[in-house]
Amino acid sequence: MKALWLKKRMTASLEDLRADARFRQTPGLDRGADRMLECGGRQYLNLASNNYLGLAGHPQVKRAAMEAVELYGASSGASRLITGTYSLYDRLETELAGFKGCEDALVLGSGYAANLAIVSALADRHAVVFSDRLNHASIVDGIRLSGARQVRYRHNDMDHLRACLEQYREAERKLLVTDTVFSMDGDVADLGAIIELCREHDVAVVVDEAHGAGIFGGGRGLAHELGLTKEIDVHMGTLGKALGAHGAYVTGDRTLTDWLRNTARPFIFSTALPPAAVGAALAAVQLIGESPDMGRTVLDMAERLRSHCRAAGLDTGESATQIVPVILGSNERALRGQEILRERGVWAGAVRPPTVPKGSARLRLCLRADLTDQDMILLESALESLAEELA
Ligand SMILES: *Cc1c(COP(=O)(O)O)cnc(C)c1O
Repeated sequence: MKALWLKKRMTASLEDLRADARFRQTPGLDRGADRMLECGGRQYLNLASNNYLGLAGHPQVKRAAMEAVELYGASSGASRLITGTYSLYDRLETELAGFKGCEDALVLGSGYAANLAIVSALADRHAVVFSDRLNHASIVDGIRLSGARQVRYRHNDMDHLRACLEQYREAERKLLVTDTVFSMDGDVADLGAIIELCREHDVAVVVDEAHGAGIFGGGRGLAHELGLTKEIDVHMGTLGKALGAHGAYVTGDRTLTDWLRNTARPFIFSTALPPAAVGAALAAVQLIGESPDMGRTVLDMAERLRSHCRAAGLDTGESATQIVPVILGSNERALRGQEILRERGVWAGAVRPPTVPKGSARLRLCLRADLTDQDMILLESALESLAEELA
């Protein structure tokens, strides 16, 4: 590196992170999407991946990816509006629109890109965007990119949201964006109340189903489960979590998708997804359509795990989904908890501030449909050891 100021700046900040035990590295592990992941020559039960339905390794999904590569090659070769759209892409979008019961669907390169695309295309510097305080970073970044005024309301606090909406009553362009399933707490947005408030104030509603897709509503998401599909202006979901592929989708009215195709910069100025991802996603959507109860299985496992945790005196917060946090408090306790589970062959991530509020460091357990009864027993006994040791 030639620029001295840059080298000095980065070195100093990285030292601070190390001193504060906040320095991060990609973990040296293998098979991280599988039921059993590998690290340092040992196998661990994988409770950290978002491959909730195990579809990333499903024979039909893998075959679809390989067939797409055979047919189209490894790369799409260009952005969507140039030559990057091939017929498999059109089929995926048609399938997604039908699956979600919306007029049209648009597929983007990732959930991060999709949120940047949606928010920056729908809001500008004259707009106000209401955002739950625990929304995903990509929503926060989308609001920044749009130049809109960001109004963050307290997590799931409808009185606070109402007060915020009142405060900006006169604003003309208003948007509300929310995760449906919150990724660090595994709780759900109060969509019914949110929609009611937004209709009252003429606010457009965007829902991010990154962790709801594949799980709730026969795989269509939480909005569908609650019968609220038609009340929502923009549905977004990802293809790289429960769907086991890669990318993201936006569904809604044709006017919306036309607008995004014409104005959303992360859509326009980025190379289209590779054939393997599109083929895999299409197979995954079809599989979920044929077996709509897969998500329910994972939710039942999570319910069983939560009652087990409660009995052991462990705090799972407001979790109501396949994501079950075990809230341990200090960073040290969370790291010790992670170690205890690793010793017993269970891999779960310790999540610490600033990702979660200070004093609420936790282990984040992601249930998955391919866990066996024996896996559940191993997990439960590991959590009992953890409860005993950290009591
Ligand atoms: C993971 C996630 C995203 C980003 O999706 P990627 O496809 O991983 O880029 C967006 N929103 C939420 C709520 C997420 O959990």
